[in-house]
Amino acid sequence: DRMEMKSRTEGNTQCPFCSVQCKMRIQNQQNPDEANSLWVTEGVMNAASEGRLCVKGKNAFQHSFNRERLVKPLLRKDGILVQATWEEALNHIAQRILDIQHQFSKDAVSVYGGGSLTNESAYLLGKFARVALGTKYIDYNGRFCMSAAASAGIKTFGLDRGLTNPLSDIPLAGCIILAGTNIAECQPTLMPYFTRAKDQGSLIVVIDPRETATAQMADLHLKVKPGTDAVLAGAMLKVILEENLQNDSFIRNRTKGFDQIVRSVQGIDLNEASGITGVDENLIRLAATAFGKAETGMIFTARGVEQHADGHMAVRNFLNLTLVTGKVGRPGCGYGAVTGQGNGQGGREHGQKADQLPGYRLIENETDRAYIAGVWGISPHELPGKGVSAFEMMELVHEDTIKAMLIMGSNPVMSNPNAGFVEEALRKLDFLVVADMFLSETAEIADVVLPVTSYLENEGTLTNLEGRVLLREAALPVSASVRHDWQILCELAVKLGKGTYFPFSTAESIFEELRLATKGGAADYYGITYSRLRKEEGVYWPCPSPDHPGTPRLFQEEFGHEDGLAHFSDIVEQPSSEETCGIYPLILTTGRVLSHYLTGVQTRRSPVLTSRDISNALEIHPATASRYGIEEGMLVEVQSRRGSFVTRSRYRPDLREDTVFSAMHWGGLQNVNLATNPKLDPYCRMPDFKSCAVYVKPLQ
Ligand code: SF4
Repeated sequence: DRMEMKSRTEGNTQCPFCSVQCKMRIQNQQNPDEANSLWVTEGVMNAASEGRLCVKGKNAFQHSFNRERLVKPLLRKDGILVQATWEEALNHIAQRILDIQHQFSKDAVSVYGGGSLTNESAYLLGKFARVALGTKYIDYNGRFCMSAAASAGIKTFGLDRGLTNPLSDIPLAGCIILAGTNIAECQPTLMPYFTRAKDQGSLIVVIDPRETATAQMADLHLKVKPGTDAVLAGAMLKVILEENLQNDSFIRNRTKGFDQIVRSVQGIDLNEASGITGVDENLIRLAATAFGKAETGMIFTARGVEQHADGHMAVRNFLNLTLVTGKVGRPGCGYGAVTGQGNGQGGREHGQKADQLPGYRLIENETDRAYIAGVWGISPHELPGKGVSAFEMMELVHEDTIKAMLIMGSNPVMSNPNAGFVEEALRKLDFLVVADMFLSETAEIADVVLPVTSYLENEGTLTNLEGRVLLREAALPVSASVRHDWQILCELAVKLGKGTYFPFSTAESIFEELRLATKGGAADYYGITYSRLRKEEGVYWPCPSPDHPGTPRLFQEEFGHEDGLAHFSDIVEQPSSEETCGIYPLILTTGRVLSHYLTGVQTRRSPVLTSRDISNALEIHPATASRYGIEEGMLVEVQSRRGSFVTRSRYRPDLREDTVFSAMHWGGLQNVNLATNPKLDPYCRMPDFKSCAVYVKPLQ
């Protein structure tokens, strides 16, 4: 069966491949029912993307028309996945869930969500886990994306929102620090904001072990050793205080805990920090004084800083820099966690996280529980408690606590650290259900696979990295044989006898309940409606009432803590990276390339995108390569203490000699996460993806 698309030949939508959420128009220039019909896309003017599209966005539609798209549910019979009707598949799922919960416990069934789901589906998935299944075990792939920055923002500012300021503030910043973020490849349409800033005299500092396309536009590039960002930020703070560049009135009036910072920087030795981070002491001084002296400035972090076992504290060290210099809550002054996933921001606000309920309410807070229970029409004692993080759910499968899992919008076989261990866990489950557009590496091992709509067919809201809520209309009609994620949840709830709690027939009707559920919470959407979103270019939360304009810039007068102040935290002085040794002498760090998104399930099925980057590579400094007898383009095995992957070498003379880099978009033997380290951050449970000790050997 081929996807039955079309009848409609054009429509407006948003790119699904990163957190900018660029608006676009898709049009068919021939007969839309032809197999190789020609579709074209163009950017549509919007305040965030300013009408731009990058190569991913321009070609995103290709995966939606790919012939590998699933068109009917698949059910495993005699070991083989075969097509089934929806009725058959949903009945089977409901029966297996009820059997497993009867035999073991409600918590034996778990849910694993994703940061690319719309707000409506993310919200409903959280409700489905707690109300329809009654399980405490729900978490999502955003645990690997935003948890360090989110928890650091809450501790320091009292609130977690990706950017504290609108994107339009970037050109107003006199100094910009981009730490562990490769915007030029991951969010390319944002680059003009930074080049505009540079044209207006801003000094740009990039902190990254590689000379990325982003680093190439920097005035200062601090080529930091992976896993030592916290030490670097601490050293910069020391310089700012030594040079007396702190903003005393801001510190006095708007923060608390500064005294402990003064005490803890006394222990920092710049020379030692330079040795740990591999960054020249003079460069540390230059970057710190530039940021300290600038009238305005912004700091951005992303996974390079955050995906470590000390990611939470590393981000807090950078947030300390914004506080000590008084660079928050003013035009051109703020912090941004540059979200990667399409709905990385909204996906974490509505209850997919083990410890949270919609609107950032806390599952362990009695008032929050009572409020959400009221919205959902259940009693608070029926709401399950706090579960565990995404990777810890996999550990609980190995321990026989979790027996079944429903995975929606995620491909954990590839995206988790120590991927071999995770695949073993998922294969061990009594029952695995995956909802996806394609037979992903995870869907391949499922008992039931449910085909879902693509971004072109799926109406809903997404919240971009600024906290700007955007409505994505459905550009094309839905094929009768696939379902929206939220429709699947509603239909399954009926089969489980919980249909009265899921009476939704449109995405908008779910959003209406989401508004109520977030009302009065930290991420308050109550004032946002579909009709408003159709008229306005998105609305920033918090937006507590329909006549509220939304909040583009946070913390102008007060921070999110009850005392209204920002809270400094102790400086971290030690690196977190996995120890190298004689056997594992190099540090493997991971990331993205321009043409691909997450585990590549969609972008590898776009001919244009996959032809640009058809397979993985190991970036390695030529001097390092020659030490291990590795020539350019040679097949190599990269081995860590957990597992290994195989790929071809690519020389990168601009890379640190102690570091190798590989991207995360390819599966099978090429999967970089077969090697990565599942050590978890104690505060936010983020795994240590980005500093893993390895050796590399040639295979030919
Ligand atoms: Fe825009 Fe990001 Fe899509 Fe590129 S990948 S078009 S920057 S949303």
